[in-house]
Amino acid sequence: MIQLRLRSDCDGALSPFVTRIANGEPRCAEDAVLAWQEAGVLGFRTGYADFRLRDVTPADIAGDVLLIDPRRQVAHRLIRAASPHNTFLITEQCDQLCLMCSQPPKPHHEDMFGHFRTAARLAPPGAQIGLSGGEPLLHKRGLFDFIDAAFAERDDLGFHILTNGQHFEREDLPWLRKHRERLLWGVPIYSDNAATHDEIVGKPGAFAELSEKLSLLGLAGAALELRTVVLKQNASGLPGLADFITRHLPFAATWAIMQMERIGYGRMNWTRCFFDSSTNFADLGAAIDLMRARRQSVALYNFPLCTVPPAYRDLAARSISDWKQKYLPGCESCSLRARCAGFFEWYRDEDGFMEIQPQ
Ligand code: SF4
Repeated sequence: MIQLRLRSDCDGALSPFVTRIANGEPRCAEDAVLAWQEAGVLGFRTGYADFRLRDVTPADIAGDVLLIDPRRQVAHRLIRAASPHNTFLITEQCDQLCLMCSQPPKPHHEDMFGHFRTAARLAPPGAQIGLSGGEPLLHKRGLFDFIDAAFAERDDLGFHILTNGQHFEREDLPWLRKHRERLLWGVPIYSDNAATHDEIVGKPGAFAELSEKLSLLGLAGAALELRTVVLKQNASGLPGLADFITRHLPFAATWAIMQMERIGYGRMNWTRCFFDSSTNFADLGAAIDLMRARRQSVALYNFPLCTVPPAYRDLAARSISDWKQKYLPGCESCSLRARCAGFFEWYRDEDGFMEIQPQ
């Protein structure tokens, strides 16, 4: 697994700061140049601080944007220059309690917008950065201000924001319209049955709220990616949800049907929730057929390719972020591996898909 946190040494009296590992000559005060190296330790110098990193090579981190935390003596890799999978964790707070949540909510919030703004300014050209939580829109004012500032400094960036969609208001419409070309909103919907959706997200009334707020996104002309994790609780309802989406949410840019991640509440509730689509693809297939017949975009995220019938494999994206992706020993010889999403690092064979078959 690729490490997103590196061991770092720095003057513990310093405040946390953002820096970029210079790939060549430094271009700004935040750029850190390699001053020395010896057995497993790299020494860096910026315009305002020195720090050391352990257990990495200069090539591993060239161009990366790091948040150095002197008190904890760690460096967080906010942006890996060579990866398309970079996400800022806006908050760990959330007002939902989803059965399969991979990042269970925490009560405290640490405002990181200042660091994120610097990191966005230092991002590689054309970067598309994920913003996630928790629920980022619980801190809507700070989030909107951060995005405004980032776009003012960089006209080539875009953000993909994951939100439960509960917190948009009519007065947000001008702001949503202003940035609609550069923001993609990823919003989960688990069923067209309100009780099922509310049960999955652990919040009574969530579906009614979501329906209203999705309409606002439609009014704004915002780019919308609907997201549905397939679970035992909603699998049989997927054709009905497809029908709902095509009739009520035709403005959605795409509908991503996703497999579950076995971490956080997802691990705790795995047996209760995991739906083995390798042995039963009928409802998924029916939902996809309906979407295709009505010419609305649909995609499959986090599905190992051999678990998907051949007729639907063109929809399966290599969606698992590189830092938490793995393959099984049997995948070594598989001809599909280069275009297969593989598995989450924390996937377990013993309670996972029944039918993994190298092709
Ligand atoms: S055997 Fe492995 S690489 Fe091949 S399709 Fe299945 S999961 Fe993917």
